[in-house]
Amino acid sequence: MKIEGEREQVRDEAFFCRKRKKENTMRKLIAVLVLLLFLPALSLAGLQVHFLDVGQGDCTIVLCDGEAMVIDGGPAASSQFVYSYVKNTLGLRHIDCMIATHPHLDHIYGLSAILNAAPVDLILTPVMEWDSKAFQSMLKYADAQGTVLSVPEEGDVLSLGSAEVTILHCWPEAVDYGRTNDASIVVRVDYGNKSFVITGDAEDWSEYMMIESGRNLKADVLRVSHHGSSTGSTMEFLQAVKPELAVISVGSDNRYGHPHQEVLERLREAGANVLRTDELGTIIMDCDGEIIDIRVSGR
Ligand SMILES: [Zn+2]
Repeated sequence: MKIEGEREQVRDEAFFCRKRKKENTMRKLIAVLVLLLFLPALSLAGLQVHFLDVGQGDCTIVLCDGEAMVIDGGPAASSQFVYSYVKNTLGLRHIDCMIATHPHLDHIYGLSAILNAAPVDLILTPVMEWDSKAFQSMLKYADAQGTVLSVPEEGDVLSLGSAEVTILHCWPEAVDYGRTNDASIVVRVDYGNKSFVITGDAEDWSEYMMIESGRNLKADVLRVSHHGSSTGSTMEFLQAVKPELAVISVGSDNRYGHPHQEVLERLREAGANVLRTDELGTIIMDCDGEIIDIRVSGR
């Protein structure tokens, strides 16, 4: 894995013009996909993005050409699941990059389990210190394996196999404003003509900053911020991303009322088909650079 300086990303938007399916067609498609076998994850070439069903939290794993990136590790309750998923389901022996989007427990608790499942080269985090046992535990395991910790710069580009990962947002100072969610590292993954934006728990301030940055935010898939909370997913941001698919990682009957109704309505208005882990279980997207196939584990 290497980090390059910022570079302009010029994309041919024409390739993005797959026809949007009507929502009812999507539902039927999902119903069929639920019935499909959960195929061994590493048997397919190209890019794979796994949105793990970790309940109320986030854990996304991106695989490309034998390289692996983990974005968040989910909450305490799913630590055993994410450990087993990395070690047994995916059989990963090595993780090139781990991103702790921000230090809240529903995102970083499971990172210690993942560090135990496979050695990690590099951890990107908006903060180098945080007063919680989960963060200290992550640091301890990272230190034991000599993992490099780094705060990325917006505009940094990392390679993951033949995919490119761009840091769209990282704002450590948000912590000083009491807006830890807005410290979130937001990434864009480009592979062939397809793109994914994965947002951590970034809220409206971050979204406006990303729009202001002038970077290309258009993506086929948006991992919706903050479990579908109305603190994010502003219409302005959704119109900039214009996702065909919107993934919400959220626990059933969570005490926050996520995803919020107004966010679901904004996503619908923006033309996105919504896929939720509380309804579908783990969601896997296989991408050859032109087409995204979806598999789900069911619940
Ligand atoms: Zn969260």
